[in-house]
Amino acid sequence: MPIGFDLDEVIAPLLRYHCLYLNQKYSCNISEKDFITYNFWNHYQATQEQAIKDFFEFCETDFFHSIQPFKEARPVLERLSKLEKLHVITARQDFLQPVTRAFVHRNFPRIFSKIDFGNYFGKKGSHITKSELCDRNNIYLLVEDDPKHILPVSKGIPVVMLDKPWNQNVQPSRNIIRAYNWQDIGEIVQEFLVNPNFF
Ligand SMILES: [Mg+2]
Repeated sequence: MPIGFDLDEVIAPLLRYHCLYLNQKYSCNISEKDFITYNFWNHYQATQEQAIKDFFEFCETDFFHSIQPFKEARPVLERLSKLEKLHVITARQDFLQPVTRAFVHRNFPRIFSKIDFGNYFGKKGSHITKSELCDRNNIYLLVEDDPKHILPVSKGIPVVMLDKPWNQNVQPSRNIIRAYNWQDIGEIVQEFLVNPNFF
């Protein structure tokens, strides 16, 4: 059964690039370290509606198109892909499917067998929760950073939570284990593959 990996902030530092865009647009000086929640509108002078608009605008810019993955991810994913099927489970919107598929294929060729989209905050089409994406794809372990997905998904399957400023309030529990870096992710997932009762 496949293992799911979130894309943004787990494989690719999207927020770092989004901050560069916001700093340019609003002449401010924010960085991802300031984000104690992953609701972008809490961290600069914007309503939720404006922040979503800014995000869609950012997706059209060179900032978005120059996102590079975390370099530590590739060797770990390469190793794990030899042991189990890997899926990308992303909340990204449907309109980002082509650019996202190209990004994954360019940076992680032959590593992921599938990419699933939740269309969170999508302008069109229905929104599918990560719990449902995991269910539909028989995902039995998810690597994720965002509390709004971690908490519901962990009711069904174990979650490896990558340590970020915005998930400091999530307490490790029976189904949630904190990883501090990609080396940790690799060790935890490998341990889980050998012993699924590891959590
Ligand atoms: Mg994420």
